[in-house]
Amino acid sequence: AMGNETERAELGRATWKFLHTMMARYPEKPSKEERKSLHDFMMLFSTLYPCGECANHFNKLITTYPPQTSSRFSASQWLCAMHNKVNERLEKPIFDCNNIESKYPCGCATTPSENDS
Ligand code: FAD
Repeated sequence: AMGNETERAELGRATWKFLHTMMARYPEKPSKEERKSLHDFMMLFSTLYPCGECANHFNKLITTYPPQTSSRFSASQWLCAMHNKVNERLEKPIFDCNNIESKYPCGCATTPSENDS
C-alpha cells in the first residue's frame, strides 16, 4: 500500500521514543497488575498502531516473542530486541541494547509518586 514515507517515519520515531522511554521507567519490581498492564498494552498497541501494515507485522512479531514484563531490565531489553527485528526487516542498522535505560531519559522524577507533582 502506498503512503507518505516521511510521515510514516516521523510517526515511527515518535512512537519508538515513547515506547523505549516507557520501558526505561517501568518498575524494577513490577506487581502482577503492572505486568498484566504492560503485556496487554503492548498487545493492544500492536493492533491499533495507525500504520496498518506495520501493526500487522509487529503483532505477528510480538506474538512470536511475547512481551517480557518481569522487570525494567527485561522489558527494556525485549523492546530493544523487537525494534532491532524491525530494523533488520527495514534494512536499518542494529542498535546496541547495552545500557538502553540510560539512553531514554524522561525528564521526570525518580519515583512514581513524585510524578504526581
Ligand atoms: P527509528 O527506527 O525510528 O529509531 C529512532 C531512533 O531510535 C534511532 O535513531 C536510534 O537512535 C534509536 N534506535 C534504533 N534502534 C533501536 C533499538 N533497537 N532500541 C532502542 N533504540 C533504537 N516502517 C515501515 O516502513 N514499515 C514497517 O513495517 C514499520 N513497522 C513499524 C512498527 C512499529 C511498532 C513502529 C513503532 C514503527 C514501525 N515503522 C515501520 C517505522 C520504522 O520503524 C522507523 O521508525 C522509521 O522508518 C524511522 O526510522 P529511523 O531510521 O529514523 O529510526
